[in-house]
Amino acid sequence: MLKDKVAVVTGASRGLGREIALKLAELGATVIVNYCGSREKAEEVAAMINEKGGHAVAYQANVADAESIKEMFSYVIKEFKRVDILVNNAGINRDNLILKMSEEEFDAVIDTDLKGVFNCLKQVSRIMLKQKSGRIINISSVVGVMGNAGQVNYAAAKAGVIGMTKSLARELGSRGITVNAVAPGFIETEMTDVLSDAVKENALTQIPLKKFGKVEDVAETVAFLASDKAAYITGQTIHVDGGMSM
Ligand code: NAP
Repeated sequence: MLKDKVAVVTGASRGLGREIALKLAELGATVIVNYCGSREKAEEVAAMINEKGGHAVAYQANVADAESIKEMFSYVIKEFKRVDILVNNAGINRDNLILKMSEEEFDAVIDTDLKGVFNCLKQVSRIMLKQKSGRIINISSVVGVMGNAGQVNYAAAKAGVIGMTKSLARELGSRGITVNAVAPGFIETEMTDVLSDAVKENALTQIPLKKFGKVEDVAETVAFLASDKAAYITGQTIHVDGGMSM
């Protein structure tokens, strides 16, 4: 389904990004497994793909650093000649109630989760405009839609990602490029493992399907949006949240 496609997945060393990288590779794409600090884990993801007969490389670049992102896309073009799919998945959280939230905590989340997406969009748009084709999938969050106490920084960044998705979908639509967002709810990863039992139990009461999602649920949706089957879908946010945000 994605044979001969080149995909860049940011933050693919762990969690959702890892599963998305594995899924796109399983469907035939060559995958650039971007990471920031977890080198061993990223190389393990790339090795898993290569051992199964796929094609992947791990590449270190901090999405918040515009210069390293520029270098990453130059490397991808030099080595692989094109970028068909970009999944902006890298993200962090630094939760705190507003009165306790420091400027550093606010800035760190905005720099990675919002500006990091902008940095990648800027580089890939140039490439995809030349190609006159491309699929961009931005990972937002249910928190960007509903808000969440203790996450004003994260909610602002993730709501911003939805706004960027719609704006860029309008900018790039006439050139055969689609731009969509996926807004996961509570998905079982390291990001949610650290939540207290009380927070998890409270979350479950708000989820009609009465369970947390799995990384595969998100990866399948991203794979669909990256495929030809989703050719007429752009500017949308697909909610993979067990019904939490309807
Ligand atoms: P995770 O397990 O904490 O993994 C985060 C990934 O992002 C890691 O691969 C990490 O790489 C990478 N990353 C962090 N900062 C980076 C940077 N500056 N540059 C490049 N990569 C960076 O998180 P996750 O749960 O899989 O979440 C993935 C995405 O889904 C995030 O955008 C998150 O906000 C969103 N999301 C998650 C959930 C959920 O329930 N899990 C729900 C809604 C939305 P290193 O380890 O190499 O630093």
